[in-house]
Amino acid sequence: MFADLHLHTNFSDGTYTPEELASHASRHGLSAVALTDHDTVEGCVRMAAACAQTGLEFIPATELTAEMDGNELHLLGYFVDTQNPSLLKEMARFQAVRQNRIREMVARLNGQNVPLQADAVFAIANCRSPGRPHVGRALVQGGFCASMDEAFERFLKKNRPAWVPKFKISAVDAIELIHQAGGLAVMAHPGLNRTDEIIPGLVEAGLDGLECFHTRHSSSQIGHYIRIAKEFDLVITGGSDCHGLSKGKPLIGTVRLPYQHVEKLKEAAAQRSFK
Ligand code: AMP
Ligand code: ZN
Ligand code: FE
Ligand code: FE
Repeated sequence: MFADLHLHTNFSDGTYTPEELASHASRHGLSAVALTDHDTVEGCVRMAAACAQTGLEFIPATELTAEMDGNELHLLGYFVDTQNPSLLKEMARFQAVRQNRIREMVARLNGQNVPLQADAVFAIANCRSPGRPHVGRALVQGGFCASMDEAFERFLKKNRPAWVPKFKISAVDAIELIHQAGGLAVMAHPGLNRTDEIIPGLVEAGLDGLECFHTRHSSSQIGHYIRIAKEFDLVITGGSDCHGLSKGKPLIGTVRLPYQHVEKLKEAAAQRSFK
């Protein structure tokens, strides 16, 4: 039995609906999935229903963008209560920041003689958590760029003309936010950040797990992070980080987390709820 605990839908920057995602997961023979849309849990209701229909185990979650010692990191919150008032309030704030950031990116594009309109981006995004991939899609659809890669290379990548830094919650506050919503905080794709030195501080702040298996982790990185997880007594998680068709090939099915790690995650969540 295998799981994929890192998946996005069109409630953030993925292209699949929750129903499409559940159907792909079931076709790939997965037993359990988690939905980890950026700064939202809105897709979880439909995803839970779609998973129940297809006989998949479902874990509600989210992915928050955080910061520690000047490093950006992504924190996954598993088993959060999707009705938790503080979580919903904070995520509404992150979503407003995202929407303002889109307007600022569009203004910078206009300054580069690219007459894209913010409404075109919002229409494509059609969600409360828009991000750079939506600007990229709008640039391609508007005929301003030939591909998403070109959009990121020319305009959207860090330090390119339309790049705008994003407000980030401190990692310590993000872990606290996830915990008070009854969830477990897991550091996403540590191999992409290459900032292993922040892990002890995150553990000190209450980090529960490390995403050891990820599409962009090499087998030596997987081994490396499993060793770190064991050293700090962290739960091991993993997922494909599938965004549907947004980055070309759908990644679902390419990372298969052995189900024993889902059992451990559930045990850790149950322990937390007794505290
Ligand atoms: P944001 O959270 O708005 O800063 O956007 C980050 C998203 O952009 C992540 O999902 C990245 O994987 C995605 N992204 C970064 N570079 C590229 C690229 N070259 N092509 C497509 N998507 C990208
Ligand atoms: Zn994303
Ligand atoms: Fe991420
Ligand atoms: Fe992600």
